[in-house]
Amino acid sequence: MNILVSGGGIAGLATALELGNRGHQVTLVERAAHLRVTGAPIDVRGDAVEFASRMGVLPKLREQRIRMAEHGVFVHADGSVAARLPVEEMSDSGDDIEIAREDLARTLADALPESTDIVFGDSVDVLTDDGAGVDVHFVSGRAERFDLVLGADGLHSVTRRLVFGPERDYVRHLGLYVALTDLPAEARTDRADRTSPLYNYPGHLASIARYRNKAFGVFLFRSGLLDYDHRDLDAQKKILLDAFAGHTEWKIPQLLDAVRADPEFYFDSVSQIHMPTWYRGRIALVGDAAHCAALLSGRGTSLAISGAHFLAEELEDAGGDHTVAFERYEQRQRPYVEFAQNSVTDGGELIVPSTQEAIDVRNARLQAVAA
Ligand SMILES: Cc1cc2nc3c(=O)[nH]c(=O)nc-3n(C[C@H](O)[C@H](O)[C@H](O)COP(=O)(O)OP(=O)(O)OC[C@H]3O[C@@H](n4cnc5c(N)ncnc54)[C@H](O)[C@@H]3O)c2cc1C
Repeated sequence: MNILVSGGGIAGLATALELGNRGHQVTLVERAAHLRVTGAPIDVRGDAVEFASRMGVLPKLREQRIRMAEHGVFVHADGSVAARLPVEEMSDSGDDIEIAREDLARTLADALPESTDIVFGDSVDVLTDDGAGVDVHFVSGRAERFDLVLGADGLHSVTRRLVFGPERDYVRHLGLYVALTDLPAEARTDRADRTSPLYNYPGHLASIARYRNKAFGVFLFRSGLLDYDHRDLDAQKKILLDAFAGHTEWKIPQLLDAVRADPEFYFDSVSQIHMPTWYRGRIALVGDAAHCAALLSGRGTSLAISGAHFLAEELEDAGGDHTVAFERYEQRQRPYVEFAQNSVTDGGELIVPSTQEAIDVRNARLQAVAA
């Protein structure tokens, strides 16, 4: 089949790989000018480890495995250690693979069959499904017809909007925003330092994550849903800078300077997507576009991998009958999604306590556990 995958994140790359491995002709369109490989280390866990194995990428993922979370420490404003991050409370089993998002994305991209056509800097604009195929009009003006279109374009999926309606009908905001910024200066000056410090003040987290010779800042803050252009980098930076304005303690000023200078700054809401169904006709959604579980679940990447695997396997088993395949894909993927979405129960209180009292109680509890 001639299949369009919209979005080159983990879900899009995994889907393109699974379909390409089964002989489909895949075109992958990514809106950014290049693969977006930034991001904090993420986890491949549970059955996703087995699916990664079937994709042929598991040995490479194991090679690149890191253990950053083990070095996480909550710190006071003066940098002294307040408590250790409870890694055991946050992982499933020793089989989990913690890996830099960039390494996972590059490994999947490198494994794509040569026949994969990757188009950067474009986006679907109009999708017309006439029952026998989908006519796709792109923002660039290009037009092409595909047998199937798979939307793997993330939390703010344009495919979802075009086919199922506005994001507001499906989004469940968890009351937090997340931002990531590269810290090249910190990586150079603090090479010997393996710790990943996390500093809280009520409703806010600023932290430095380190792995190998890299360092980047991670921010979380509590806020209701904000209205801004998801593609306007300056607007995103302003929201983050305003949220941490007036705080000169710990390393916040340096981290905010890094945000100002970073062309790859990442900012998004911590929200889930709940949809009654993920397909219509010849168009289906995969990954965050269909069922974002939010970073608090720690399972978005594993869901992207399992979804890609089920979708491609079911298309093969159904002999290309997409109606049967999409239905079975959804049946197999749903339980994983429900588990992941339901696993977010504390609204991020562990890593972003809402009050000073909650920060103190958390630290005391973790100190007691460690003693
Ligand atoms: C730069 C970046 C950094 C991230 N960092 C973290 C992190 O640190 N921790 C964490 O838990 N999760 C992070 N995530 C989210 C995490 O990768 C996903 O939750 C999970 O891997 C599922 O992936 P996904 O492919 O469904 O969505 P995403 O990873 O969000 O990928 C969606 C892709 O689609 C592209 N896209 C969006 N709109 C269009 C369009 N109209 N046309 C074509 N392409 C489009 C995006 O540029 C992106 O490459 C990050 C995502 C991105 C994009």
